[in-house]
Amino acid sequence: MGRYRPLRADIDLDALRHNYRLAQAQAGSGRCLAVVKANAYGHGATACAHALADLAPAFAVAMIEEADALRDSGITHPIVLLEGFFSPAELPLIAEQGYWPAVHQAWQVDALLAARPARPINAWLKLDSGMHRLGFSADEAVTQWQRLAACSHVQGLHLITHFATADGADDAAQQQYERQRACVTDVVERLNALGYEVPCCLANSPATVRGNAQGAWHRPGIILYGAAPCDPKVRSVSLKTVMTLRSRLIAIRSLAAGEPLGYGRGFIAPHAMTVGIVACGYADGYDRHAREGTPVLVGGQRSRIVGRVSMDMLTIDLTDIVAPTLDSDVVLWGRAEDGTVLAVDEVAQGCDTISYTLMTGVSARVPRRYHRS
Ligand SMILES: *Cc1c(COP(=O)(O)O)cnc(C)c1O
Repeated sequence: MGRYRPLRADIDLDALRHNYRLAQAQAGSGRCLAVVKANAYGHGATACAHALADLAPAFAVAMIEEADALRDSGITHPIVLLEGFFSPAELPLIAEQGYWPAVHQAWQVDALLAARPARPINAWLKLDSGMHRLGFSADEAVTQWQRLAACSHVQGLHLITHFATADGADDAAQQQYERQRACVTDVVERLNALGYEVPCCLANSPATVRGNAQGAWHRPGIILYGAAPCDPKVRSVSLKTVMTLRSRLIAIRSLAAGEPLGYGRGFIAPHAMTVGIVACGYADGYDRHAREGTPVLVGGQRSRIVGRVSMDMLTIDLTDIVAPTLDSDVVLWGRAEDGTVLAVDEVAQGCDTISYTLMTGVSARVPRRYHRS
């Protein structure tokens, strides 16, 4: 794939390392897991893990299949399984491979206690501090912690929780964030009073950037890949762009006033204009919901999507672009050859989505090319 068609995702591994160091600098005395689930948010999990291997003491993925892929590529670090395990049958492999599973259901605690693993298992007990997705309530967490702590083959017990609104700037978001932090403090104090030390892993990217949810571990994901972790009103950081999705024009067309462009007459030329056809479509992961006006760079100049995104192509307005040619570098998001950056967050806004879905959505037929900046 990718020897002929010009579309590709260029991945800057030095930018990834820069962003990891920046996350680590925010984490105080805590250490940062590098979250490389979902193929490292579309960037290529094994390449990214190897690029971070000397910086990150551990990695995090969603499930065992992703962890196995890292092990198969030679990664020997501990790997957290953020979604835990789905059946007790996974426990021998978890023990053998040194995976650290999140534990969020009573049956999982029962299964851990009943297991006879060849090696102790490092379990991460999940507290539902208010997101109401996964985890035990505060009271249950205190109970389950004691059960796990009493088990000789459970070692390195951690408390993990997830913030629902660490990225939001409005009052309701701020208040929920504070309530969730208070819930964690309450559980930790109750366990401390029972004589337990409680290493915590609290912060995702936005909470890492905020710097006020310290713990033994942080688990940044999106900031490693250079997208904005939270509302800039909360805090912004100088991240570097890691992925550039780039292609070329494969046709340049003139439209007369009134002529339609693409499927469903999605765009009608309001005046005589020049449009470009780009080799990139929704089957490559470019969002079909992109609105007219969603930005694109052509030779470093800002252009805009016009008409509907098709499966393999999309169309852009070249009317105000100086000297576009079939060789012009087209950047769907990321960094143009002249250094101009089109933030993936800005493109995501045009598509009514978030940077996460765009980056994880870059499909398998788009070749990833790795380089050091
Ligand atoms: C994906 C994930 C993260 C990373 O979140 P970012 O917002 O990308 O930093 C952290 N914790 C859990 C439990 C996750 O599932």
